[in-house]
Amino acid sequence: MTDKTGKVYLIGAGPGDPGLLTLKAKECIETADVVVYDYLASPFLLDYAKNDAQVIYVGKKGGDHTLTQDKINLLLVDKARQGLDVARLKGGDPFVFGRGGEEAQMLLSHGVSYEVVPGVTSAIAAPAYAGIPITHRDHTSFVSFITGHEDPTKKDTSMQWDIYAKSNATLVFLMGVKNLENIVKNLVTHGKAPDTPIALVRWGTTTQQLTVTGTLETIVERVKEAKLTSPAIIVIGHVVSLRDELAWFDKRPLFGKKIVITRARAQASSLVSTLTRLGAHCIEIPTIQIAPPKDKGPLKKSIENINDYDWVVLTSVNGVKFFFDTLFDMGKDVRALGHLKFACIGPVTKERLKDFGIISDILPKTYRAESVIESFSTVDIKDKNVLLPRAKKARTILPEELRKMGAHIDEVVAYETQLDDTKKETLISLLDENEIDAVTFTSSSTVSNFISQLESENTKTRLKNIVTASIGPITSDTARSLGIEPTLEAREYTIQGLVDALLSYYESCE
Ligand code: SAH
Repeated sequence: MTDKTGKVYLIGAGPGDPGLLTLKAKECIETADVVVYDYLASPFLLDYAKNDAQVIYVGKKGGDHTLTQDKINLLLVDKARQGLDVARLKGGDPFVFGRGGEEAQMLLSHGVSYEVVPGVTSAIAAPAYAGIPITHRDHTSFVSFITGHEDPTKKDTSMQWDIYAKSNATLVFLMGVKNLENIVKNLVTHGKAPDTPIALVRWGTTTQQLTVTGTLETIVERVKEAKLTSPAIIVIGHVVSLRDELAWFDKRPLFGKKIVITRARAQASSLVSTLTRLGAHCIEIPTIQIAPPKDKGPLKKSIENINDYDWVVLTSVNGVKFFFDTLFDMGKDVRALGHLKFACIGPVTKERLKDFGIISDILPKTYRAESVIESFSTVDIKDKNVLLPRAKKARTILPEELRKMGAHIDEVVAYETQLDDTKKETLISLLDENEIDAVTFTSSSTVSNFISQLESENTKTRLKNIVTASIGPITSDTARSLGIEPTLEAREYTIQGLVDALLSYYESCE
C-alpha cells in the first residue's frame, strides 16, 4: 500500500473509429497503470497502454455483464487505493447513457478523485458517418437523446411520447433496436406522421457500419429484412432524408469489403491503413513472421569486414532493418559505411534506407533480370565486392545477374521468414461463414503459408469464390503452382500497386 491514492479517469473512447479518440484520452491511456474497458470500446485503443499496464476487460454485451456494475465500482476504488492511476474507458461519451455519472458519484463517496474526459458520442457520430446531420437549419431546431432501453409499455414510464411525437426535434434513440417496434408504435399513436424518415445505424463509424432507412411505417420490416441487430443508433426526423445527398462513409470505393491481409504483422500497417481509408474492413491473418537468422554469424562477419566491400545491395525493408540492427548491435553506426555505394530494389526499400540517412545510388525497380541489368549497367560493377544481406531462401536471379556482370557477390542471411499459423482457426471459420471477400498476397511465402493452412479440399474450393489479389508475377506463379489462379495482379509490384489493382477490380464489377 502506498500513501498516494491514484486517480480514476472516466474516459470517452469514442464510437469505434480509433481516429475519433481525443488527444487527451490517448494521453490518459498512455500514462495509466490500469486500463479498464468494456465491449464497445475499440480494442485498437489498448495498443496505447504502457507495456506493463494492467489491462482489464469488464465486458458489457447486452445484459451479459462480465463484471457487475458493483464489482466494476469496487475494482476502480481498489486500484485507485493501491496508488494506481486508472483509465476507465467507455464507449462513446461516458456521460451519455454510459453510467459515467453513477461511477463519478461512487468514486466521490469513496474519496477517490477522478477526472472526466468526454468522448465523441455514437449518438452524434453514427448519424454523421451515415451522412445525417442531427441538426440542420431547414429541418430541425433541436435534438433529443433518448434511451430506447426502457420498456415503453411499463406504467410508470418516464418516456414523454406525446412530446417526442409533436416536436419537430431530431430524435436519437440509443439502446433501442430491440424496442424498435414499440418506439415506432408509440410515436405514431401519439401523432407523429407515419411517413417521418427514420434510420438505424449499426456499428457506426466502424468498417462494419450498416445503415437501414425507411419511414416509421416501413422501418420495422426493413430492419428485419436487413437482419440488423444491436448496437445501433436510431435517428428519427426530416434530417434523415439528407442521407440521400450527404452519404460519404459508405460511398468509399472499398466500403464493406472484407479483405484478409496475410503479411507479417510488423509490415501490415501501410496496407491496412490504405485499404481502411478506402473503406475496406481489413482482417489481419499474418501467415509469416520475420525473425533474425538462427545463425547471426555471417552477417556479423560481413559487417566486421565492411571495408572489404564496394557495394551493399538491399532487396527489402527487412533487409535494411536487420542490417542496421546488427550494425548498431556491434557498436557501429553509419560512419562505418561512408565508403560504400548502395542499391535498393524497389522504392519502399529506398525510403527505408533513407530513414537511416543513406540515399541509394541506384534503384532497380524490380527483381526482374532486365530491371537489374538496366540499373547496374549505369555503374561500374565489374570486379567489385558486393554484399547482399537478405532473406534465407531468397531468389537467385539477382546474384546470378550481378555475377554475369563480373561482380563478386557475398550473399548473407539477414533474416528468416517463418510460418505463422496462430490465426488458422479464425481463418477457417471466416471461410466457413463466408466472411471474406478478398485475400491479398504480397509475396510467394504469404501464398504458400496461407494455402498450407487450408486443410481440406473443401476450404480450397471455397477460396475459388474469393477475390485473390497478387502483388506481382512471381507471387502469382507460386499461387498457380498451388492450384489458385489469382483474380488480379498488381501492375506495379508495390503495396500501392496492389491497392490500385483492387480498386480497379471492384470498379469494374459495378
Ligand atoms: N456512452 C455511449 C452510449 C452507451 S449506451 C455513447 O456515448 O455512444 C449503448 C448504446 O450506444 C448502444 O445500444 C447503441 O445504441 C449505441 N452505440 C454505441 N456505439 C455505437 C456504434 N458504434 N454505432 C451505433 N450505435 C452505437
